[in-house]
Amino acid sequence: MPRAVAGPEIERLIQLLARLPGLGPRSARRAVLQLIKRREALMAPLARALTDVHDKVVECQICGNVDVCDPCTVCTDVSRDPRLLVVVAEVGDLWALERAGVLNARYHVLGGVLSPLDGVGPDDLNLAKLVERVHDGAVAEVVLALGATVDGQTTAHYITDLLRDLPVRVTRLAQGVPVGGELDYLDEGTLSAAIRARTQM
Ligand code: ZN
Repeated sequence: MPRAVAGPEIERLIQLLARLPGLGPRSARRAVLQLIKRREALMAPLARALTDVHDKVVECQICGNVDVCDPCTVCTDVSRDPRLLVVVAEVGDLWALERAGVLNARYHVLGGVLSPLDGVGPDDLNLAKLVERVHDGAVAEVVLALGATVDGQTTAHYITDLLRDLPVRVTRLAQGVPVGGELDYLDEGTLSAAIRARTQM
C-alpha cells in the first residue's frame, strides 16, 4: 500500500473521479492536480456546474432523456421531424446519435434492453410509452437504433411485434454496427453510415 501523498479531502476527490468512465486512479490524480492548479478558473465553475445539474436534472416524461427541463430540449425542439422516432437503449446512445448529426428526429429511450439472463423483462423498459407515442402521434417511421448484441436484437424483434398492427414503418440500423457493438462506443462516421443504410424490420 503506497503512503498517502495528500490529506483525506484530496484523496476522496481522487477516489470519486476515478469512478468515472474513462478515468482510472492515474487520470483522476492528474485531473485533481489540474483542478487544484486552476482553482478559480476551473474548480470553482466545475463545483457550481455540478451543483446546478445535480439540483435540476430530471428525466423527460415523454422520451426518457435526461435534461434540466421536462419535456426535454429534444422533445420541445419544433425543428425536429415528428414523423421520425428513433428508439435507443440508453441516454448515451441518444447523445451519440446526436453527435453523429445525421437524423433530424425525436427519440425514445428504453432504459435498457431485454435481457432474460439479467432479469430485464418488457415491464422494466419504457415500452408502454413508446406504443402510446406511436399510437397517438404523427410518427411514420420508428428506427430501432439498438446495439448489435443478442439482447439488442431480441429487443428490436420484440418492439417490431409490439408495433405490428400500427400504421408505422419499423426500420433498424444496418451495416457498420459491429456484432456485439454498443452504439455509444461507435465513431460518428460509423453511426452515420448505419443510420443512412437502415433496413426494414
Ligand atoms: Zn424528451
